Amino acid sequence: DAYLCAIDSANGSLNAYVAVTHDQARAMAKASDERLANNSGGALEGIPLGIKDLFGTEGVHTQACSHVLDGFKPRYESTVTANLWADGAVMLGKLNMDEFAMGSSNETSYYGPVINPWRRSRATTIVRPVTHTGDAAFVSDGGVRTERTLDNMQLVPGGSSGGSAAAVSAFLCAGATATDTGGSIRQPAAFTGTVGIKPTYGRCSRWGIVAFASSLDQAGPITRDVRDSAIMLKSMASVDAKDTTSVDRPVPDYEAALGQSIRGMKVGIPREYRVDGMPDDIEALWQKGIAWLKDAGAEIVDISLPHTKYALPAYYIVAPAEASSNLARYDGVRYGLRVPGKDIIDMYEKTRAAGFGREVKRRIMIGTYVLSAGYYDAYYLQAQKVRTLIKRDFEQVFAAGVDTILTPATPSAAFGVADEDMAADPVKMYLNDIFTVTVNMAGLPGIAVPAGLDEKGLPLGLQLIGRPFDEETLYRAGHVIE
Ligand code: GLN
Repeated sequence: DAYLCAIDSANGSLNAYVAVTHDQARAMAKASDERLANNSGGALEGIPLGIKDLFGTEGVHTQACSHVLDGFKPRYESTVTANLWADGAVMLGKLNMDEFAMGSSNETSYYGPVINPWRRSRATTIVRPVTHTGDAAFVSDGGVRTERTLDNMQLVPGGSSGGSAAAVSAFLCAGATATDTGGSIRQPAAFTGTVGIKPTYGRCSRWGIVAFASSLDQAGPITRDVRDSAIMLKSMASVDAKDTTSVDRPVPDYEAALGQSIRGMKVGIPREYRVDGMPDDIEALWQKGIAWLKDAGAEIVDISLPHTKYALPAYYIVAPAEASSNLARYDGVRYGLRVPGKDIIDMYEKTRAAGFGREVKRRIMIGTYVLSAGYYDAYYLQAQKVRTLIKRDFEQVFAAGVDTILTPATPSAAFGVADEDMAADPVKMYLNDIFTVTVNMAGLPGIAVPAGLDEKGLPLGLQLIGRPFDEETLYRAGHVIE
């Protein structure tokens, strides 16, 4: 009730939830109380969680914050959320995100932007038209709205898991699920002073999660501290016969790793991450992180990941290519929105024209182009080769004895909503992902941990990257930083 109350009072200004499942939350909490009374509680018994709108939740609003999935309520539950419910967690509702998880600011959502709970001061008011056609029964601030008033000094929470990060940061849930294809857990965590981990590819099942780029997508938690992250990831992770890329390895007790000494841990500092134009406070934060780990007994070594500069361009070929294929299914026949046409082709075209937003259309066009017969070798195949080189960079460093790699999580703190530079040039937005995409390209685990504030008082995060399936080392070192 306390969380539902907090959501009802704050969601009008933050827009973190796109559906609040009041009745379900109370029913799940009651069932949880009963289990506790019978001494049969699970690891997350009664813990109220927010769920990113990308996770299929049975009978509940699941639209990937896209118009094309209007009214879609799946008849299945994603494996990750089913695991959480099996451990006793309670669902508060579905969280806002960039449409189909494409974005770094949560501004591509059909439901309008999420506002970062962290603020700067002075504000001017602008009005943005947003068509709000959510299921009124599930939308906490009710009904259809056509306008939303925003401050242009308000800040984005990052993306694509902006709703997850904002809700955790503003105490509108105890923890949230999120997904990360190129940074969408770690960048919003850094922008909101929360902890976000992208586990190793294959650690969590992707079954029942709306697919963006299947070879890169991974689920993970956003939480207020490292301990919560360890507890929640243990519950989310599992092998799953319904996702053949999920990996059959025991899920360790991540919480047990916290507080273990990092004496002798070898921490790599990659010189290629010192990018041009990086603000001084990011560099200063990085140095502080190095000092903290050193003081705790870690050995700091300079390392080189020579193919880093190709990661972002390669990512923005591979991810749209896979997305263009995955999004072919939204044709007006199988899911959500249908705009009638004079024949079936006309219906497909009208549905997709009306259903997808600008960024999603841009990705579909880029993806279709790089996969087309004349360009496949020059772009897609080349990007896949680059991906192998990026992976090898990491393998060599880990083979040389490095246990974890420390980098900034993002090249800046949270920026303003409706930032003109970003709106004018999509590549500026893509540059936000510069420190995070390499990890997805190599399939490695990465965690963003809050590490300090910039000169305007906004949160900044550091990232730790680990060996495949060595999330425990990230938790050990992350616990020292937080
Ligand atoms: N910002 C990146 C993109 O837009 C990453 C998104 C994600 O990780 N889902 O593709």
